[in-house]
Amino acid sequence: MPMFVDTSPPGQCIFCRLVAGEIPSAKVYEDALTIAFMDIGQVTPGHVLVATRRHAATLLDATPEEAAAAMQTAHRVALAVRAAFDPPGLMLLQANGALGGQTVAHFHMHVVPRHEADGIAFTWPRKEPPAAVLAGYAERLRAALQSGTRD
Ligand code: 5GP
Ligand code: ZN
Repeated sequence: MPMFVDTSPPGQCIFCRLVAGEIPSAKVYEDALTIAFMDIGQVTPGHVLVATRRHAATLLDATPEEAAAAMQTAHRVALAVRAAFDPPGLMLLQANGALGGQTVAHFHMHVVPRHEADGIAFTWPRKEPPAAVLAGYAERLRAALQSGTRD
């Protein structure tokens, strides 16, 4: 699969330049915290990116308000994609970090119309560990949530 590689020099994030209008984009929607525009890659027709207006490298760098606004915009865009393209399926995808599959280090969410045999493929290596292992993972996360993870 061809992967896009952002060759922008440091400090000149490609999506920040797009938000500032320094490079063109096919804009779909914008509000105070987010912007939605057509992905140049168009994995399937109607493929939209929803990004924060402010530079936040990943989901973990976005504020709770920005994260909520991005999902709200993705929901609006998904409804518009259904109205305009009527795909039989639709997928949200959000990647963080190079190992998470992120190629542009400015928080964004993909809204992707899905079709039969559209060429999109994931391997999803299920492990199905015993219940005690799941309980241990949940305990670690509850402890992390209690000690505060919002900053
Ligand atoms: P990621 O791999 O980080 O989840 O997604 C980055 C996406 O940004 C890719 O799908 C790529 O096609 C898209 N992209 C990269 N540069 C530009 C650009 O200048 N304009 C637009 N509209 N999309 C871009
Ligand atoms: Zn940026």
